[in-house]
Amino acid sequence: MYDDNATLVDITKDINEKRQGEALYFETQKIAGQKHFYIESYGCAMNFSDSEIVASILKDVGYAPTRKIEDSDLILVNTCSIREKAEDTVRKRLELFNKHKRQRPGTLIGVLGCMAERLKSKFLEEEKLVDIVVGPDAYRDLPNLLLGAELGDRGINVLLSREETYADISPVRLDGNGVSGFVSIMRGCDNMCSFCVVPFTRGRERSRDAFSIVAEASELFDNGYREVTLLGQNVDSYKWENPESKKFVNFANLIEMCAHIDPDLRIRFSTSHPKDITDEVLYTIARYDNICDYIHLPVQSGNSRILKLMNRTYDSEWYKERIKAIRRIIPGCTISSDIITGFCSETEEEHIDTIEMIKWADFLMSYMYYYSERPGTLAAKKYEDDIPLETKKRRLQEIVDAQRQLSYLSNLADIDKTYKVLIEGESKKSNLEWRARNSNNKMLVFPKTNNRKVGEYCWVKVKSVNSATLIGEEVNQPMI
Ligand code: SAM
Ligand code: SF4
Repeated sequence: MYDDNATLVDITKDINEKRQGEALYFETQKIAGQKHFYIESYGCAMNFSDSEIVASILKDVGYAPTRKIEDSDLILVNTCSIREKAEDTVRKRLELFNKHKRQRPGTLIGVLGCMAERLKSKFLEEEKLVDIVVGPDAYRDLPNLLLGAELGDRGINVLLSREETYADISPVRLDGNGVSGFVSIMRGCDNMCSFCVVPFTRGRERSRDAFSIVAEASELFDNGYREVTLLGQNVDSYKWENPESKKFVNFANLIEMCAHIDPDLRIRFSTSHPKDITDEVLYTIARYDNICDYIHLPVQSGNSRILKLMNRTYDSEWYKERIKAIRRIIPGCTISSDIITGFCSETEEEHIDTIEMIKWADFLMSYMYYYSERPGTLAAKKYEDDIPLETKKRRLQEIVDAQRQLSYLSNLADIDKTYKVLIEGESKKSNLEWRARNSNNKMLVFPKTNNRKVGEYCWVKVKSVNSATLIGEEVNQPMI
């Protein structure tokens, strides 16, 4: 399992660190002579979603997915560059893959995603046994690169594009609970947060054709899915011009279009940016029962000087105003965050401002990291990474403790409340219990009764809690 420095208090589906390195696959019928690919994915939900686009491209040239490295003719690792440790983990995995290649000559190894983009041909020079290196905008070139690699050419394509959205590619769903799926709505990022490598590895922001998004979400619904998460680095800046009508579709319009697919299809999205989330989006969420009352709105720091150094383009007052707007327009909406501690020159007082912000905003959960300097970023060029590792780790622990307490209190406040939940699968601990999620993105566990099935909605009354889960029992739908 991936050992990043992120610390989670809860598990959500958008950036689930527990899934790092997961080998996505689905069982297919064995066909004699068919080639198989094995793919491991690291990083954010966007990478997991990209792996499904890659699977679709590979399927068209005759490859089937496998979860067994030993059975694979092609081993792919879809990489993340966001923190140094993420890259170290991938390097270790490549060593292991290379051992496998020595035992099974002819197996090809490919590096995909952000690390491929960041290191480019250096990858082929440094990691001698990598056969292909493919950046996030070049997956359509995979079949060509594979043909070359089979003939002994080591291939690379890391060209970034201003247009590529893979809009016409129907992803092969590798990640199969069959209930919730990711739909990518845009690629790249035009923000220049000083700590972040994403604008360099994923290129310029571009929005995908709104109709292709609705079509993909509808297809998921028709195939039994009951929840889609719309993905982008900054979903609130989604903007697509209809080439025929010349009218623009913004993010509020897009979630409304998706909400109309079916009242039984839940809509989630990630990630929202505090500078861009509009009241129009908030009112749209409030208007539709099937747009979930949960917003991931990363604050990064609670101190305005640090936010300025981070180039987040908002200050703590602006962030608080956005939180107030959410609470006013969508009562009961839960909010989660990303936080970086120990950023360049952060003082103890500024660190305490972050703890105060966590408490003030009453985050349901946060993804918390200590700062990891990334080569080429604005911060790496302009500021000294001067907070000692010990201090970074101590501060991280302090924010984790503050967040854990809040998560527990938030769950405690749910005792005796009744929620509509979507059943995602069996509880991890017992096959006599269901695991389900409410609109607020809280996980509920309850005993199986009434012959329910995965993908069904039902109502659950909360009886007890811990800091990660609500424990309850199924009840009749309450009269409103
Ligand atoms: N686009 C999203 C946003 O602006 O909130 C975040 C995308 S990034 C993939 C996910 C998170 O990783 C960021 O919100 C940030 O907290 C964290 N992160 C990014 N760069 C980092 C760095 N250099 N060191 C530590 N954490 C970092
Ligand atoms: Fe990185 Fe900032 Fe873009 Fe998020 S908004 S991907 S943190 S540059």
